[in-house]
Amino acid sequence: MRLRNVTGSREVIAASPYVIQEALQPDCAGAWNKVFGNSQPVFIEIGMGKGKFIHTMAREHSDINFVGIEKYSSVLLRAVQKMEQEELANLKFLRMEAEDITRVFGSGEVDRIYLNFSDPWPKDRHAKRRLPSREFLQRYRVILKADGRLEFKTDNRELFDFALAELAPAGWCAEAVTYDLHHDEKLMEGNVMTEYEEKFSGMGNPICKYVIYPRA
Ligand code: SAH
Repeated sequence: MRLRNVTGSREVIAASPYVIQEALQPDCAGAWNKVFGNSQPVFIEIGMGKGKFIHTMAREHSDINFVGIEKYSSVLLRAVQKMEQEELANLKFLRMEAEDITRVFGSGEVDRIYLNFSDPWPKDRHAKRRLPSREFLQRYRVILKADGRLEFKTDNRELFDFALAELAPAGWCAEAVTYDLHHDEKLMEGNVMTEYEEKFSGMGNPICKYVIYPRA
């Protein structure tokens, strides 16, 4: 997602109490319980966009800490504005590139990772940039608890097939797979729609989803 450059978004983000500032991000690794002031589980969304999903999740699950990650200030600004409307103590934001994720979370510190409607990067030579690629799965393995889970939703069938094919070479296993989430009663339990999910399912596109875990 890319929004028109919003004037002042960098300044708002630099002053926001909901955003962990860049200089302080490395101090969070291994210390998220200090950031939140409790030892609740940590769930993260990488590429959260305007933050509808993670904000709703944090509201519905006050016993879990949530961290939303987004690389563009102009997009993150929307999530910050939602927090200004409805502040939640168990939600923080990071403006950063997902490539650097292992610098911000300690080994085994994360209980669940959400990828929702990640950018497809359709050219073969950009495969490494796809958030469900084996290169990224390697990074997620470091920060995820041994019994942690990663959930991925997309309406992009090519990206989903790619993501499934990455599992075996990266040493991950699927716990659940669907090509039509909205007609899967079990996987729909507690489903929170993302912005893209509303848009694309509204256009009639089926939504694919997997839940995966790293092999020991
Ligand atoms: N999850 C939201 C937005 C999907 S669009 C939804 O489902 O509605 C994908 C988002 O991921 C965009 O906002 C984009 O800026 C962000 N993104 C893509 N690659 C990223 C990366 N490497 N690091 C951080 N954010 C990224």
